[in-house]
Amino acid sequence: MIFATRTMRKRQERPPDEVCGYDVLMWDRNGGNMASDRVKILVVEDEPAIMALVTFTLKAAGWQPVMAETSAAAWHVLERMTPDLILLDWMLPDESGIRFLARLRENRERKHLPVIMLTARSEEDDRVRGLDKGADDYVTKPFSTKELVARINAVLRRKVPDRAKSLLKLGSVTLDPETRQVTAGEAVLELGNVEFRLLRFFLSNPERVFSRYQILDRVWPNQPEIEERTVDVHVLRLRKAMGDDGYMIRTVRGVGYMATDRRE
Ligand code: CA
Repeated sequence: MIFATRTMRKRQERPPDEVCGYDVLMWDRNGGNMASDRVKILVVEDEPAIMALVTFTLKAAGWQPVMAETSAAAWHVLERMTPDLILLDWMLPDESGIRFLARLRENRERKHLPVIMLTARSEEDDRVRGLDKGADDYVTKPFSTKELVARINAVLRRKVPDRAKSLLKLGSVTLDPETRQVTAGEAVLELGNVEFRLLRFFLSNPERVFSRYQILDRVWPNQPEIEERTVDVHVLRLRKAMGDDGYMIRTVRGVGYMATDRRE
């Protein structure tokens, strides 16, 4: 469940998935429901018309926008949640987007966050400056909403492959991140939310061994209270739900788990 820790009155004024500036996001301890599992995109933009267009576009694409109108508001949000990607305007009323980006890249916990700069400036110099400071991509206003979605998808695929929207396949198992349907051959698999996220993680990173700690970090981000044996519990459930294909989630003794379609 996602909820903003402000007054009830304020909370009721907005749809629950629109959380602005100084509101605080908290995630369900048990791994969240479908809503909290959506890709979260922090939009740092001070122009109301552009903010409205961008948030509309992101929602239509199935993502969850989190809005901040200033650099200060954006930092406030980052202290409480980790978005999957940041859309960052260049000209902000307080600190410039480029300065914000530089601070982000100097920050140990947040330096890896994917950032797409969103700006009216089209000069080549600025573009180079933005990419120099560590922007992953650059979209120049005015932009088409189609292009924006395509750019975001491209960055997500590159930086956070398990959050992209393309089909994931391994052996006879196919997972559609958009419809959340998982099939094994002709059969549709019924997975719980946590098992779905676990499988999405494994299918995004086939043939790679991960420790329980690494899996916790990726599948249960920002939930340090969850213990490593939780991974074992959900791997068992996932294997059971996968039936004959459960062998694909292989235990690597002394290390952790990996996804493979090679039988031992
Ligand atoms: Ca601006």
